[in-house]
Amino acid sequence: MRKAVGNNYPIDIRISAYEWIEDSISFEDVMYFLKKAEPYIDTVQISSGIDKIFEANVHCITTNLEEEMPNLKWAKQAKAELQIPVSVVSAVMTPAMADEIISKGYVDMVAFGRTLLADPYWPKKAMEGHPEDIVPCLRCSNCYHISSDHWNVGCSVNPRYHHQEFVPSEINLPKAETKNML
Ligand code: SF4
Repeated sequence: MRKAVGNNYPIDIRISAYEWIEDSISFEDVMYFLKKAEPYIDTVQISSGIDKIFEANVHCITTNLEEEMPNLKWAKQAKAELQIPVSVVSAVMTPAMADEIISKGYVDMVAFGRTLLADPYWPKKAMEGHPEDIVPCLRCSNCYHISSDHWNVGCSVNPRYHHQEFVPSEINLPKAETKNML
């Protein structure tokens, strides 16, 4: 990969700290691998579970019955033992939570998935200092293709997600030619 992309292109890998299946890899194995891989990569993102296996994907795409930031414990350990920047993914719900785990030195970065489906303007609202306007992800997994076998995918709080063809983004809407004053 390095040969293909050159020295100035970042290589990030995402890895499950634990797979949540029988005979899962152990976190010790993962750390052993990461220490071997470290010279060849620029950053690592700590996840868990496995996408394609039902009993494991609920740990990959956690519901609101699970704790928030379930992968942080592993990410902290990876950060303590590696030299490269470490990020964490999974249920970091608010800018305050992200700020806290970075400022405490637990991780270098935070990765977001469903949070950005629920509100694509999450980073802008955080950056501009009005997090109260963020539409929160419910962790309900309506958007997760595996939960409905690619049928009926959508977001419970963002009607545009996956349905842009009939709920167009406001930036694609033509401007009204006249104003209707009531
Ligand atoms: S459907 Fe929307 S609210 Fe529910 S988990 Fe997915 S992104 Fe979050």
